[in-house]
Amino acid sequence: MKRIAVLTSGGDAPGMNAAIRGVVRYASNSDAKLDVYGVQRGYEGLIKGKLSRMDGRSVSDTIHRGGTILKTARCMEFTTDAGIEQAFKVLKAYEIEGLVVIGGDGSFRGMKDLRDKFNFPCVGIPGTIDNDLGYTDFTLGFDTAVNTVLSAINNIRDTMTSHDRACVIEVMGRNCGDIAVYAGLAGGAEAMVVPEMPFDIDELIEKMRRNVLKGKASDIIILAEGMTSCETLKKELEDKTGITLRTIKLGYIQRGGTPTMADRIFAARCAVRAVDLLVQGKSGRVVGSKDNKIIDVEVGEALKMKKTFDKDLYRIATILGQ
Ligand code: ADP
Repeated sequence: MKRIAVLTSGGDAPGMNAAIRGVVRYASNSDAKLDVYGVQRGYEGLIKGKLSRMDGRSVSDTIHRGGTILKTARCMEFTTDAGIEQAFKVLKAYEIEGLVVIGGDGSFRGMKDLRDKFNFPCVGIPGTIDNDLGYTDFTLGFDTAVNTVLSAINNIRDTMTSHDRACVIEVMGRNCGDIAVYAGLAGGAEAMVVPEMPFDIDELIEKMRRNVLKGKASDIIILAEGMTSCETLKKELEDKTGITLRTIKLGYIQRGGTPTMADRIFAARCAVRAVDLLVQGKSGRVVGSKDNKIIDVEVGEALKMKKTFDKDLYRIATILGQ
């Protein structure tokens, strides 16, 4: 193998640049001595032939940056046979022999199609803040996103405590409550509303009333987006408890920012495994972590694995938030 390409696809996540850097530097500096091409804007750039040669210097000064220097996109055309065939032709024209895809489950489905239809060697690195992939304990960007939420909780708590006000903080995680639970536990939130657990508003109202009797009127409630709107929840809680609430929707703040140490190290370890897999001819695999060890799983198997929610962590967070 002489030449590989790397792309980022789907939602951006902090640590994607550290992963690109890892792929480029490991592929070109290790014994493999590969040429690396960067693809602009994910699968869209692959179809349009937007590839350029990268070397160790092209990734200088990027390890600490959020977002992705290769840019990312969502590309409907790649979900069609014609789109995938066009991407394959471009890869052939550039004499690319392997592809590293950094993205979430959608990007992995695209990668699987390219492997299944054209037997093209691909490997995946899980880049998404949601931590919603079943085969890996963590995804790249999750740790940074949780730390961003945590820092917001810390700041908000100061004001809420000073004014005896409660607050609903809406975080990302439409299908996965991990951001809410990890940030809730680490930030000492009083309650977390997540898609994996039944939500009983009367129980929450009771808890808030009890907290007032204990002299605590500044509860912080973390709401995973999509469960209900923070305004609706605020109104119902205010009407039934008499406590003044504020709402804050953190939104895109959670997607950007400088990656944490954990995400940078994870990015480096994933990048090295991904390049090793391509060099060893082990295609169609996605890299991740289990019990703090780097693992790789066949992409089809990985996509079938259902994400298990850590109910014990939720239980601990709920008890400690009382
Ligand atoms: P993420 O990778 O973060 O989950 P998306 O779900 O938006 O983000 O997927 C990113 C891109 O992957 C899509 O724009 C599309 O090009 C490709 N993709 C998604 N789902 C499929 C699929 N089922 N088959 C082929 N390609 C797909």
